Amino acid sequence: MSVIRHDWTSQEILDIYNKPLMELLYEAASVHREYHDPNTVQVSTLLSIKTGGCPEDCGYCPQAARYHTDIEGNDLMSVQQVKAQALRAKASGSSRVCMGAAWRNVKDGPEFDNVLEMVRTINKLEMEVCCTLGMITENQAQRLAEAGLYAYNHNLDTSEEYYKEVISTRGYEDRLQTIDNVRKTNVTVCSGGIIGMGEKAADRAGMLVALAKLSPQPESVPINALVAVDGTPMEDQTPVEIWDMIRMVATTRIVMPQTQVRLSAGRTEMSREGQAMCFFAGANSIFAGDKLLTTPNPDVNQDMEMFKKLGLNPQKPFVKKAQPDTVEAENSKFEAKGEKPKWSRPEHVIEKNEFAKQKGKEALLNK
Ligand code: SF4
Repeated sequence: MSVIRHDWTSQEILDIYNKPLMELLYEAASVHREYHDPNTVQVSTLLSIKTGGCPEDCGYCPQAARYHTDIEGNDLMSVQQVKAQALRAKASGSSRVCMGAAWRNVKDGPEFDNVLEMVRTINKLEMEVCCTLGMITENQAQRLAEAGLYAYNHNLDTSEEYYKEVISTRGYEDRLQTIDNVRKTNVTVCSGGIIGMGEKAADRAGMLVALAKLSPQPESVPINALVAVDGTPMEDQTPVEIWDMIRMVATTRIVMPQTQVRLSAGRTEMSREGQAMCFFAGANSIFAGDKLLTTPNPDVNQDMEMFKKLGLNPQKPFVKKAQPDTVEAENSKFEAKGEKPKWSRPEHVIEKNEFAKQKGKEALLNK
């Protein structure tokens, strides 16, 4: 068995990333077979439970309030709406529902109580529940765990060095702190990043060093290709080449053998052949549904057709870890503490972000 290493250096990872492609693919596919069934791929559905109006300035994100994009903002969905969507996702073959809210961090109160109820409701449908809600405290992580949360997503996005070129409203250490808070519970960690934001291959390697260093390594690592949305600071970025995506997936697989590597945003731009190579290189999870939060994604029927052609089977829920119990709100051991942790706010100037913010202001004035 390949050993799980937490001491990868950036150079070692870069050397893997830059290997001749056939060698890289062979190595990644071999590691993949040691830990996973190569013909099984997890299908997850991503649900935007609260869209837009986010106070953060992530340069890739159309949900940041300061940029002017075409997305329609929505308040928090109701538990019933979420249940209906989860049932639909289950019927079309998803084993996991990931709920995303465009928040900087979770605040205790009625909205978070509703999210906890959504977690309870979906866990009772025998589906894995994942949330991505921004930064959370240990107490909030415990409350999510108690409600039956299976995974918490909190992406590192890129290397620590390049992070400063992407986001100015929070620091890398905040991301690591939230992951650490989740790790104090029995909730699994989902954390990955985005390629195609203008970073170098060394930054891709740097992100994998940071993820591989975590002990245990994240159970799930999403690899996204930037979807450059008009109005965001990254609207003019050149699309990621499929070869970069394949290399990134293969390198992630080798560096984190046990992890589920998730082929995430950007799949609409990939051919089936390209996606098949990603599966061969070790990707074993996709997001289904026609939207990924706010950006386009292949239709679930197209995905099922692709699965048929490739002889792939959707992964059943809870095969990697048992289903967590759900504790009802009235029996909870944890109370809302109303904490106000001091998450950092570096607020250095990122020219691209400032430019897009200015354009956003002008667009509002001209409405
Ligand atoms: S990525 Fe998340 S935190 Fe950043 S602006 Fe978008 S919704 Fe907000």
